[in-house]
Amino acid sequence: MKKVFVRSIFVVFLVLFFAVANSFALTQKQKHKVPVQSGLTKIADNVYSYVDVKGGSPRNSFGANAGIIIGKKGIVVIDTLISSNEAKRFIKDIRAITDKPVKYVVNTHSHLDHTFGNADFRRLGAVIISQENCKKNMEKNSEAALKNAGAFGLTEKDMEGTRIVYPVLTFNDRMEIDLGDQKVELIYPGPSHTDGSILVYLPDKKILFAGDALFTNYHPFMAEGNIESWIKALDFILKMDADIIIPGHGPVSGKKDVEEMKEYLTAFDKKAGELSSQSQDADFIAAEIRKALPQRPEGEWMIKANVRMKYLKK
Ligand SMILES: [Zn+2]
Repeated sequence: MKKVFVRSIFVVFLVLFFAVANSFALTQKQKHKVPVQSGLTKIADNVYSYVDVKGGSPRNSFGANAGIIIGKKGIVVIDTLISSNEAKRFIKDIRAITDKPVKYVVNTHSHLDHTFGNADFRRLGAVIISQENCKKNMEKNSEAALKNAGAFGLTEKDMEGTRIVYPVLTFNDRMEIDLGDQKVELIYPGPSHTDGSILVYLPDKKILFAGDALFTNYHPFMAEGNIESWIKALDFILKMDADIIIPGHGPVSGKKDVEEMKEYLTAFDKKAGELSSQSQDADFIAAEIRKALPQRPEGEWMIKANVRMKYLKK
């Protein structure tokens, strides 16, 4: 019984991967060029992040915004990108700014573009932290995703040296890291983009790293999201004392972008719910949803992937 269950889960996985890969291959044909990220952007004193990566692709971690917070006692790293190669690039960019020790890595959630560089940071001695469900999701899915990295458009060379390393420290609701002169709050606002997605907050600087709870300019990946509680998590962010919000993907953002994210999810969910009860045609449904959604320049292939994976379950 268990075997059958495990196997069917695996098949579902493969199907989902190929759905994403197919849609991605299409956009790649249309694009040709894959821009490379260059260096970390200064957000505030001692806070840096990748932001506004254009042309998100497997090779640039789908444009994921990993970042760092530098304190007296060392560095907190937020997310580790998609591979060992990408983590090495990130570490090089960190070393261009500071030679302080990397004390902690925070995984904002379990997805590959945020966690597959973990091993390179553990090698530096970092303690890897996540919400409990994030670790569970990694234990359930990450090895299979690494084995099937090709389905995401990643080559063997891209993934060379990449190993899955799990968080060693987990929490449920809240946790605080004290770097001596900088407090870093880790907050679980309930399920959103995944059931283990967290926020990283610097109260004194009013800066929030929102992880993939917020996508700006990028079409969000919704398949593992609970829309109702995701909206609640966005409402929670709107009530926070935060002036600068770093989304999981996209440019430096603010509350207006959080409002737009709410509108996007609500519009998508309504339209996809209606149409998927009448039709099983993913292309048709995706085309109709595209008409109803606000324009976003990055990752349009995600619309169809979300329709198939979340609403048609295929
Ligand atoms: Zn994600």
